[in-house]
Amino acid sequence: MAYKFIDNYRERGARKQLVELLKQKGIADHAVLAAIGKVPRHYFFDETFWNQAYKDIAFPIGEGQTISQPYTVAYQTELLHIKKGDKVLEIGTGCGYQTCILLELGAKVYTIERQEKLYERTIQVLPHMGYQPKFFLGDGSKGIAADAPYDKIIVTAGAPTIPEILLGQLNIGGILVIPVGDEAAQKMVTILKTAENDYEKIVLDTFRFVPLVGEKAW
Ligand code: SAM
Repeated sequence: MAYKFIDNYRERGARKQLVELLKQKGIADHAVLAAIGKVPRHYFFDETFWNQAYKDIAFPIGEGQTISQPYTVAYQTELLHIKKGDKVLEIGTGCGYQTCILLELGAKVYTIERQEKLYERTIQVLPHMGYQPKFFLGDGSKGIAADAPYDKIIVTAGAPTIPEILLGQLNIGGILVIPVGDEAAQKMVTILKTAENDYEKIVLDTFRFVPLVGEKAW
């Protein structure tokens, strides 16, 4: 894929319109909307498809995977209630768009991807854009124990169940956001860790993600 890093008036205008659309769809967090307004989503697309980059749709990124729909990214990010300096584990880096949104919000991001080709591409593209998360290649369904605990964990692929091992890697007061269901549809679930072995779970709207594949997943 031929990447080109030019952010001209056409793309900036389209990004503003996307932010307005997300507001209309119910995204209210100003910091999240500002981050969406800042990250050039077309940088993750071949120039041939730049006209698709600011539509509110998921889009293929190769290896059978997708860049998530902007609404989904905004929705999951809003649920994380990111504070500056939060240590966030992202499971499913993909192209790294969600990673950039988390970094724009001031999080320290640890992000893991299991597909080597996507990992190799993303570790080139994000630093080129000025974003510096900590990248990992491997099975994120087990989290990353070596760097735990985290303030927030976001899973960007659909899981059959909530991997218990991830709850163990959350700080008290920490939040896990994860889509859970079968391969056709998942419910967005948030879990707040209120004390060691004590959790508050909320089940929200229905989404459709690519599957979380791994030892603690599909
Ligand atoms: N976060 C991305 C974005 O900003 O557009 C979207 C990610 S895509 C919907 C889901 C990603 O999760 C895919 O790249 C897939 O390879 C990855 N994935 C699936 N199972 C995984 C696992 N066990 N560990 C790490 N990544 C995984």
